[in-house]
Amino acid sequence: MRSTNRKQMLREIEREAAYTRSMTGRGAFSPAVMKAMETVPRERFVPEDARLQAFYNGPLPIGHGQTISQPYIVALMTDLLDPQPDDEILEVGTGSGYQAAILSRLVRRVNTMEIIEPLLTRAADTLSSLGYTNVVCRVGDGNHGWPEKASFDGIIVTAAAPAIPPALIDQLKPGARMVIPVGLPYYHQELMLLEKDETGEISSKDVLGVVFVPLTGNPARGGDRE
Ligand code: SAM
Repeated sequence: MRSTNRKQMLREIEREAAYTRSMTGRGAFSPAVMKAMETVPRERFVPEDARLQAFYNGPLPIGHGQTISQPYIVALMTDLLDPQPDDEILEVGTGSGYQAAILSRLVRRVNTMEIIEPLLTRAADTLSSLGYTNVVCRVGDGNHGWPEKASFDGIIVTAAAPAIPPALIDQLKPGARMVIPVGLPYYHQELMLLEKDETGEISSKDVLGVVFVPLTGNPARGGDRE
């Protein structure tokens, strides 16, 4: 039953990718990304009472006013990041741990940060119970990235920032990408793809209008709670 539902979810993702092609420039996602979406058990990342809706192609509440993102958006953001097997990735906004789990199937290591401690604890437990040992989790304010682990081959931010945090740009390696929703809370936000070239120049493009929960914390100074 669950594998049927997961296949249905994959078809929904394929349909929405084709439908949004003119905006995103990609009518389909890479086979590796789709394989990760097929193999990671999404039902393990949603609260018990939402398991029946786990494969619905929309966001779901995970407690503390936060959400697990829509499967299509997870697939799109993963595809935009263009993850490679040897990559070291930073995710800001662990939430349920689902996006980190998807990335963990595609790269060497995922470093994921979450500002709400109970969410981080639950996500870390889920990831470890599934044996996803290449995900490192910590509580902290992602506005400042993770300087001790920088720099990264890719950064994915799963909460909307009013502006791109400069620390995250600094923590990108030359040649690396960042995928981030930018805009005001509960207002228009744009999913952006940034690339840092070999000389450190940044280019960016708007990919799609989206709605994410806000990036909280303090953009002006360190707010880590470790
Ligand atoms: N990637 C998540 C998943 O797969 O379930 C979905 C994340 S949810 C849309 C956004 C998350 O970002 C929330 O859990 C929220 O607490 C977290 N967040 C918001 N501001 C943050 C910050 N400054 N640093 C780290 N995490 C933050």
